[in-house]
Amino acid sequence: MFAHFKQSMIQISFDNVETVLCLGAHSDDIEIGCGATIRKLARERPDLAVWWVVFTADGKRKAEAKNSARAFLRDAGKSQVIVKQFRNGYFPFQGAVIKDFFESLKSRVKPDLVFTHFRNDRHQDHRLVSDLTWNTFRDHLILEYEVPKYDGDFASPNLFVQVSDWLAKEKVDNLCRYFSTQNDKHWFGRDTFLALMRLRGMECCAKYAEAFYVRKMVCT
Ligand SMILES: [Zn+2]
Repeated sequence: MFAHFKQSMIQISFDNVETVLCLGAHSDDIEIGCGATIRKLARERPDLAVWWVVFTADGKRKAEAKNSARAFLRDAGKSQVIVKQFRNGYFPFQGAVIKDFFESLKSRVKPDLVFTHFRNDRHQDHRLVSDLTWNTFRDHLILEYEVPKYDGDFASPNLFVQVSDWLAKEKVDNLCRYFSTQNDKHWFGRDTFLALMRLRGMECCAKYAEAFYVRKMVCT
């Protein structure tokens, strides 16, 4: 259906990316925000190293986070999954210990690309992770992803990663499969996730895409 579109905008690629750091406050945030992009990167670069950090998940949610990360990272050359147990919903009030964790992370990983929450995300846990990402990684390419929610905090992202129909549908299938504890939430469902990728695809002349906010990039 979209094969006839000729891409005329200059394309950038992530060919030089060797190490990616994905940061998500809760289990499922990374998958919702950039799951298809990670899958695409890992499939195109078999040597890709991915650090995957979830800041709070325990019990069933921890098991879901780990099982889902394994599925989304199955083509990555190397992966490191870290699931922490900071207090869900209270991140701004635990700022010091979470910042300490960021400092320890900085000494362990040298990412070429960082995925984090949108700066203006209205969820307090998301926003703190975003703020501390920028506090910590100060010479890095940071892409902020979006998570749909009741608060209605979307803006207009400015970087799009086009993904195939297959990858888009696989992402949605995996979200519904691995996060069964969320299936009773009114917003958590195939139609929400596919609709968002379809709208972002429409905005970049493709069928499906994930979209990000890039605040600074350097051209040489
Ligand atoms: Zn979240």
